[in-house]
Amino acid sequence: SREIKPEPSVFELAPGVSIGGKELLVMAGPCSVEGESQLLETARAVKAAGAKILRGGAFKPRTSPYAFQGLEEEGLKLLAAAREVTGLPIVTEVVNPRDVDLVARYADVLQVGARNVQNFPLLRLLGQQNKPVLLKRGMSTTIQEFLMSAEYILSEGNQRVVLCERGIRTFETATRNTLDLSAVPVLKEQTHLPVVIDPSHSTGHASLVPAMCYAAVAAGCDGLLVEVHNDPETASCDGPQSLTPEDFSAVMEKLRRFAAAA
Ligand code: PEP
Ligand code: MN
Repeated sequence: SREIKPEPSVFELAPGVSIGGKELLVMAGPCSVEGESQLLETARAVKAAGAKILRGGAFKPRTSPYAFQGLEEEGLKLLAAAREVTGLPIVTEVVNPRDVDLVARYADVLQVGARNVQNFPLLRLLGQQNKPVLLKRGMSTTIQEFLMSAEYILSEGNQRVVLCERGIRTFETATRNTLDLSAVPVLKEQTHLPVVIDPSHSTGHASLVPAMCYAAVAAGCDGLLVEVHNDPETASCDGPQSLTPEDFSAVMEKLRRFAAAA
């Protein structure tokens, strides 16, 4: 908490890529790794637009057991190949505790999905890893519970935890979830950990993503996690909320103008 550590934490997610400082860190890429050309095309585009980390799911926590579950280790290999080509570090989700070692062999940053925010055995294992963790808030977790989940990782020794607000469940149906933007200043008051906003899973609609990126930055977030797909219409997962490379590039350009004006 801020009482124990008053200064905000600034740390590297990968060599030369830090979070928590003055510069906004943008992580972008497809919801899921689908194949070599899809991933490489998207990775090149997000890099050109200014993203510093490539996201992409190889293990997907899907609502339906019949939906695409991800390419698993083959997806991790494709992510590593995309890192090789673009130089972008990678963030990817680990769904099952038994896969932590496997995912940690490939990933730069280990993601915990909203559905696993209170998977305490998974959190403890990640606390024993020497890799930073991107911890997503659950759709029904309070901020207090979210922070306690972060403590499960920190208390095992891993101090590199990034908190990600990705929308919570409310009665509203116009958006996939309700982005709790106030979580940014609340978390900033209560903890030294960096805070990232996911405008994609929170809104569920690509048209709403740019406005929430700008609002999140105005609210004081340290980074963004944005879904971008080289061809959203063909995406095997979350196409409707994925930005095209062109739209993502326009958002990044506007964010640079805001930063220059600030
Ligand atoms: C994701 O970012 O890939 C994801 C599955 O999001 P969430 O866990 O927030 O639903
Ligand atoms: Mn997704």
